[in-house]
Amino acid sequence: MSRRNVVYFYEPEVGNFHYGVGHPMKPHRIAVTHSLVLNYDLHKKMKIYRPYRATPQDMCRFHSEDYIDFLRYVSPSLQGLNYKQLTHFNVGEDCPVFEGLFDFCSMYTGASLEGAVRLNRRHCDIAINWSGGLHHAHKSEASGFCYVNDIVIAILELLKYHPRVLYIDIDIHHGDGVQEAFYLCDRVMTVSLHKYGNNFFPNTGHMYELGGEIGKYFSVNVPFREGIDDASYASVFKPVIEAVMSHFRPSAIVLQCGADSLACDRLGCFNLSIDGHGECVEFVKKFNVPTLVLGGGGYTLRNVARCWTYETSLLVDEKISNELPYEPYMEYFGPDFTLRPEVPTRANEISNANPKAYLDTIVKFTLDNLKMIDFAPSVQMMDVPEDFLNLDKLDHAEESDPDMRETKAELDERVEQENEFFDGDKDNDAADETPQA
Ligand SMILES: [Zn+2]
Repeated sequence: MSRRNVVYFYEPEVGNFHYGVGHPMKPHRIAVTHSLVLNYDLHKKMKIYRPYRATPQDMCRFHSEDYIDFLRYVSPSLQGLNYKQLTHFNVGEDCPVFEGLFDFCSMYTGASLEGAVRLNRRHCDIAINWSGGLHHAHKSEASGFCYVNDIVIAILELLKYHPRVLYIDIDIHHGDGVQEAFYLCDRVMTVSLHKYGNNFFPNTGHMYELGGEIGKYFSVNVPFREGIDDASYASVFKPVIEAVMSHFRPSAIVLQCGADSLACDRLGCFNLSIDGHGECVEFVKKFNVPTLVLGGGGYTLRNVARCWTYETSLLVDEKISNELPYEPYMEYFGPDFTLRPEVPTRANEISNANPKAYLDTIVKFTLDNLKMIDFAPSVQMMDVPEDFLNLDKLDHAEESDPDMRETKAELDERVEQENEFFDGDKDNDAADETPQA
């Protein structure tokens, strides 16, 4: 199969934001991933762009204006004055107010949005934004470490050119914000595979959540129990995605690759290896449909960086060594210093609570529902509305502004700078009070 044209977004500042001491969400993981990507020389196989920054107007395509205004103007020093609003918008513990919050949102959202525009314009076949994939954010409410739903905003952009967009979510948590946004819609199919039960966050995503009205059967939910391993996961993922592709026939895909479904995640309880997680990405790629690849959850930093680096290599069709190259964050990856370590036996303390009969039931139920959409009316495309952002202007800016396209030396220099906010590996200690998501 011919090599795919891949673009990859990286904003050097995105790794410097900090949710707060002890908070499991660490934007620093994006910088560590990027450092591995560079040191494996993967940047030579794709185009790297410093992304566009989303404006409040871009965000208001999905979110309410009062919520986005709040995110723009709130600051750690002002939050005492806004107690009522903090509660109203669910900002506080899981989703804290931190320094630069709005800039952070504008960076990860801008990258997803630009990815969608570039896919629409056929500038690329695959667009990667590991800083995006914040699937829990609601229209007027933050949730599960997510503030602005970059996924919904990117899908809205893809819908300008694509009659049907498929969303696939392999994060351990249900992709509730995205499902909710398109619950009554037959042009977006959302497929989420996640842990469900025992009040696991966000406590939605039951098999019987199918979508409503003309969107009935366009929400697909695969509720797993804890401890699922590679073979069990693939035994559901592959037939379900295969059937989704043949019945729904999307012309674009958004793939959320939350890495908290890996074994040993600080907040997760699945047993996927990096190979097993990557197999899903590889499987989706084989359909050769324009795809926006996003990050998401992932709370054991070293494994998040391993996983997304490995998946970048799969997306650019480059075989890379299991032995990690020397790089500035080397100390995170000991004692094995490998890219795809075996799932440690410690993880197997969480045994696989997904018997084959249970998985077979889910697959059969899902495949039966998918047959129903063959009767759905086909979409008529209306006039194409204007793009969110003008790529010609952006490309021009890249030519004239050397900062927009960096040489490897410049990128290397930057990633070597120590991150003053990262709390070190001790911060992976799950003993402190961990919010859920
Ligand atoms: Zn998650």
